[in-house]
Amino acid sequence: MNDRNPGDLASSLLPPTLAALALATTLLLGLPDAATAQDEGLRVYISADMEGVTGAVSGEQLGPSGFEYARFRGFLTDEVLAAIDAAREAGAVEILVSDSHGNGQNLLLERMPADVMVVRSWPRPLAMMEGIDARFDAAIFLGYHTSTANTRGVRAHTMSSANLTGLRLNGREHAEAGVNAAIAGHFGVPVVMISGDDAIVEEARAMLGDLEGAVVKWSLGFHSARTLTPEAGRALIRERVAAALARLDDFEPYRLDGPVTLELSYKNYLPAEILSYLPSVERADAHTVRWTGADMTEISRFLQVATNYAANRAP
Ligand SMILES: [Zn+2]
Repeated sequence: MNDRNPGDLASSLLPPTLAALALATTLLLGLPDAATAQDEGLRVYISADMEGVTGAVSGEQLGPSGFEYARFRGFLTDEVLAAIDAAREAGAVEILVSDSHGNGQNLLLERMPADVMVVRSWPRPLAMMEGIDARFDAAIFLGYHTSTANTRGVRAHTMSSANLTGLRLNGREHAEAGVNAAIAGHFGVPVVMISGDDAIVEEARAMLGDLEGAVVKWSLGFHSARTLTPEAGRALIRERVAAALARLDDFEPYRLDGPVTLELSYKNYLPAEILSYLPSVERADAHTVRWTGADMTEISRFLQVATNYAANRAP
C-alpha cells in the first residue's frame, strides 16, 4: 500500500484529550481510524492504448480519419470502464487513467465516472505512464500491442511505427509494455494485468512474469486477427482485472535499477546523426543512438525528446 499514516496527522491536530480518547477508543475497540482506512485504500493506475482493443485491426479504427474510429473510441472507453468497475469492486479509492494512444484524446471523457481522473494529450515527460507515482499499488495496461521487433502481433510497433525500428534497455529489446513497466517499477509499482492480442500477452508475460492477461483477439498478421466481440472483450477484461487485484501480493515491480542504457534505432539515418551531436549521445550504428540515463524517468524524458523534437514545432 503506502507508507503514509494520516491517522497520526489527524491525531496531532486534535486537542490532547480528544487525541487520547481517540487512541483509547482505537486500542479498546480495535476500530480502524476512518481517515486511515480511507487513505490506505487501493490506488490503481490504468494506461490505455488502442491497438489492442477488442476488434481493432487497422488504421480504420485507430485515428480520426478512420471510418470506424468514432465507434472504437466508445469500445476503448467501455474497456477502461470495465477495468474501473473491477478495480472499484476490489476496493480502489483512487484511479488514474492515461489516454495513451495516437493524439492522447481518445477516451470519451463524459463517460468517465466523477471520481476518476484522466491524463490527456502530449507531449508529457512520462508519456504513457504520466501521473504514476509511489502511491499507486498496481498498474494495468489496456489495449496494448507488441514491439516493432516482434514478428507477430496486430499493429506491432514501438512508440512510432513511422520512425523507430528498435528500442533496447540494457541491451534487451523492450515493447512499450516493457518500457512502461520499468517506469512503473521505478516507483515500486507492479504491472498486474494487460489486455491485447495473444502476442503481446505472451511477450509481456515473458518479460514481466505471471501477470494476468486478457487475450481479446488472436493475431493473424499485422492487420488481421480473429477477435472476440466487444461485449466478450469487456467481460474478460473485468474478470482479469478482478483476478489480478485479488492476488496483489504475487506481483513484483519490474525494476531496472541504477543507470539504464537506451539504444534507439531509427528507420531513417538523419535523426541518429543529428542526435549524436550531443556529447552524451553515442552513435551505436548508422541508424542507432545510445544514451545512458540515471533512471527510467530520465530515459522516458530522453525518449520524448528523441521522438517528438522538431525545430518547426508550434506553438
Ligand atoms: Zn497506440
